[in-house]
Amino acid sequence: YPVESIRNFSIIAHVDHGKSTLADRLLEITGTIAKTDRNKQVLDKLQVERERGITVKAQSASLFYNYKGVNYLLNLIDTPGHVDFSYEVSRSLSACQGVLLVVDANEGIQAQTVANFYLAFEAQLAIIPVINKIDLKNADPERVEKQIEKLFDIPVSECIRISAKQGTNIEKVLEKVIEKIPPPQFNTTDPLKALVFDSTFDHYRGVIANIAIFGGEIEKGHKIVSAHTNKRYEVNEVGILTPNEQPTHKLYAGQVGYLIAGMKEVTEAQIGDTLFMYKQPVEPLPGFKSAKPMVFAGMYPVDQTEYNNLKSALERLTLNDSSVTVHRDSSLALGAGWRLGFLGLLHMEVFNQRLEQEYNTSVILTAPTVPYKAVLSSAKLIKEYRNSEITIINPAQFPDKHSVSEYLEPTVLGTIVTPQEYIGKIIVLCQDRRAIQKEMLYIDEHRVMLKYLFPLNEIVVDFYDALKSLSSGYASDKAYATGKFLCERLKDTIPRQLFEIAIQAAIGKKIIARETLKAYRKNVVAKCYGGDITRRMKLLKRQAEGKRLMRKIGNVEVPRDAFIRVLKRQ
Ligand code: GDP
Ligand code: MG
Repeated sequence: YPVESIRNFSIIAHVDHGKSTLADRLLEITGTIAKTDRNKQVLDKLQVERERGITVKAQSASLFYNYKGVNYLLNLIDTPGHVDFSYEVSRSLSACQGVLLVVDANEGIQAQTVANFYLAFEAQLAIIPVINKIDLKNADPERVEKQIEKLFDIPVSECIRISAKQGTNIEKVLEKVIEKIPPPQFNTTDPLKALVFDSTFDHYRGVIANIAIFGGEIEKGHKIVSAHTNKRYEVNEVGILTPNEQPTHKLYAGQVGYLIAGMKEVTEAQIGDTLFMYKQPVEPLPGFKSAKPMVFAGMYPVDQTEYNNLKSALERLTLNDSSVTVHRDSSLALGAGWRLGFLGLLHMEVFNQRLEQEYNTSVILTAPTVPYKAVLSSAKLIKEYRNSEITIINPAQFPDKHSVSEYLEPTVLGTIVTPQEYIGKIIVLCQDRRAIQKEMLYIDEHRVMLKYLFPLNEIVVDFYDALKSLSSGYASDKAYATGKFLCERLKDTIPRQLFEIAIQAAIGKKIIARETLKAYRKNVVAKCYGGDITRRMKLLKRQAEGKRLMRKIGNVEVPRDAFIRVLKRQ
């Protein structure tokens, strides 16, 4: 395939607008997969994706299509729509020259439509708007096309109306891809330059790297070097994804495919790395900005003897999901573990689920928190940290307020798209969450786009739920009410133990709420047959000692989801 007949594109959209379903139809119509009724989001291969019905990993597939007598090679990347995974979207876009921007004909433009549009726009990609679900009774493609024109300055005439579910107008999509998206501008005769845009660890074959070739060509037997580690490898296999790995003789400039080159360690073939030919070094590609974690949680093996297994599982999974940050950590109660950083709560849950399902591990995850910064006023602490400003990712390490002149919290610019009748309630909700309004724009006669600057801590756990139900209203003295609420919730979620547990909420040293979880009382006295008072006392004393011991060494079993449930306000 000459470079002129290659097209590389991603499908981007708000969650549930039909990206993966459109990918199914494109795979079918090009004969990449057989056409059956059973094809439902076939690119969502992970168990977690099938169970939750969402895409969490970008997935590539190469399609072959004959258009006006010319054979084309089309590389499609299906992407996740949820904001927590937008890191996957940006990476996918680096391997593309264009995108299909899918918008639901009923829902219209939503927050992630806007965010994803700007990712593609800033990357200077060709953008083809696709109005999906025109089969729905309430579909209003005309209104959605006007929104697209108003917000993105793309003429109404550029939009394609389709039903991915029923397979309406799918050829039109392929025609537009070929006509509107430019072929990659890379040369086969240049030295090899390959971008690793994704990476997975296979138990038998080691690292499998997904690569986009920005110059030159690559085949089995070639000696290549990683710009990141400077290590040398011999290529064992190259190929394309259809969507399963299919070995090919070579990969050429402009193509997207995979490579296996005997990389056995997960630190090799990092996402964002550039590969070049041995003795023909090239300027490495910019790579990727490292992701900025927004939510932190402690992770510990349920059983400390599992520490090393969990460690290697973590390393392998973070190879595939490089947006997770890992720091070693330990806790008195839970032993040695890690403090992990995630892009959001859903990301945290999905990562945890993947660890369990794909690596057969069992972990304890602690309550999610957001990072804070403290500007230190104590000379002693400044000296200790060698810095006057520190980032705190673990609430246990919060410095005392007397040695801090200012605390800083992370904020996010949030976009809300809503029918106008809810504006009043939404504004109240946002104000309740200490948000500052930045923009308010009518995107058509009935819908409004609001932009607010939110303290992340106020929205990270339950804002979306609150927004959905619009039921706000909680006590104005938030600290006390929240403390009481959390203690009560914990009391309800933690099963009773053989010893009494005090559940306290504290601000610094000040306890603001307390609940007591009563112990089960084993009736040790029942064993002795009445009478003997000294024996009775002895047993009771032993029980008391036993309790004290258990409290010291006892592990409180906190149910896995308890923390998340506890942090939800409703
Ligand atoms: P994604 O999150 O953008 O990948 O969306 P999916 O492809 O997973 O689709 C989300 C839901 O919308 C699924 O239940 C699909 O069956 C449904 N869906 C997708 N395309 C259409 C369509 O053209 N018409 C209708 N009625 N439903 C669709
Ligand atoms: Mg999807």
